[in-house]
Amino acid sequence: MNSLEQRILKDGIVLDSDILKVDSFLNHQVDVKLLKAMGSEFLELFSDKKDEINKILTIEASGIAIAAFVAEAFNVPMVFAKKGEHKNVGNDVYTADVYSFTKGRTYEIAVSKKYINKVDKILVIDDFLANGQAVLGLKSLIEQGGAEMVGAGIAIEKAFQPGRQKLKEAGIDLRALAVIESMSPETGVKFGTN
Ligand code: 5GP
Repeated sequence: MNSLEQRILKDGIVLDSDILKVDSFLNHQVDVKLLKAMGSEFLELFSDKKDEINKILTIEASGIAIAAFVAEAFNVPMVFAKKGEHKNVGNDVYTADVYSFTKGRTYEIAVSKKYINKVDKILVIDDFLANGQAVLGLKSLIEQGGAEMVGAGIAIEKAFQPGRQKLKEAGIDLRALAVIESMSPETGVKFGTN
């Protein structure tokens, strides 16, 4: 069991059958030692592709902290897509619409054209995989820039939701640090394998 799985068992809170709260260590208060370890674990998980990956792409806000440590481990730059208003990025942007499963609405994500180029081989990183919409939106940005998406590294995959299937259909190489097979407030979290 890796450090993230151990921490989920210790401090994760199952809000209902499909939302896991991890805000005491991952996406509100941040345990930087844990995230550093996760950066190394992602490097190991994608070790077969580490020489080609030249950029990490994530989405604000909760992906940023994790992606920064992954970028540090791979020794490459990290870019994050902006959500909603993005006037400060300028008009020269690639955009995509993403439906948020947790917020129940669609929002636009954007990244400056400067930061996705034809030569780029990009690893997408995010905190959770639920329905796959965030990752598919990021894939669209990568394709608009003529770059290649090398894979998606997810901290916590909820395998009982449709994300994995959707990413598979889109031809995405998905790898996750923690795969949750099932969860409920009564029984807690049960892990499966990748
Ligand atoms: P998807 O786009 O795959 O449907 O959902 C992924 C996004 O929704 C992630 O970026 C994450 O911020 C949020 N999310 C999905 N499921 C959960 C969850 O169980 N807990 C938390 N905290 N965020 C989630």
